Amino acid sequence: MESVVETVKTGTSFLEEAKRRSGEDLSLCYQCLKCTAGCPTAPFMDVRPNNLIRMIQMGRKEEVLGSSAIWLCVSCETCGTRCPNKIDIGVLMDALREMAIEEGIPAKERNIHLLHEAFVQSIKRGGRVHEATMLIDYKLRSRDFLTDLIPGMMLFLKGKIPLFPSFIKGREEIKRIFEKCEKK
Ligand code: SF4
Ligand code: SF4
Repeated sequence: MESVVETVKTGTSFLEEAKRRSGEDLSLCYQCLKCTAGCPTAPFMDVRPNNLIRMIQMGRKEEVLGSSAIWLCVSCETCGTRCPNKIDIGVLMDALREMAIEEGIPAKERNIHLLHEAFVQSIKRGGRVHEATMLIDYKLRSRDFLTDLIPGMMLFLKGKIPLFPSFIKGREEIKRIFEKCEKK
């Protein structure tokens, strides 16, 4: 069994690693709950964003990296905008997902990592997400062709999912950012 000293050491290193990777000073969080109150996906998370920060401070690495919360964050940045200490949990969630993948900790939600991959690839292609091709990419990766098919068709028929992608002007810059990140 891990000694108290080792637990403290592990906890400290997890906090430090999360801070280093995200660039967010998580020690500043004083649990005001403003992040969670504004988070659109918090009601569906097993651990609320403010609690996740507290668990990181306490070094509860396995629980944090194994939570569904880190995969359900949609990086909307509402938390970062509301936080009085300017802690951007969306950026932190990216870092935690990266750590979970490196540690081989699977996501609780089936295929959610494939959706994230399809999302990132869509940005890589056009500089912004194109929902139609992203969803086709996701369906091919997951081989789950039937889930959400009817709501997807309804959105398409209502013109909410454009057929053709619109690319941003700075696609070359986006390409360079991806190349730089992939080299790390
Ligand atoms: S809004 Fe900021 S300080 Fe408040 S609980 Fe969330 S992360 Fe902590
Ligand atoms: S960035 Fe993530 S954690 Fe923050 S408010 Fe949006 S969904 Fe919630």
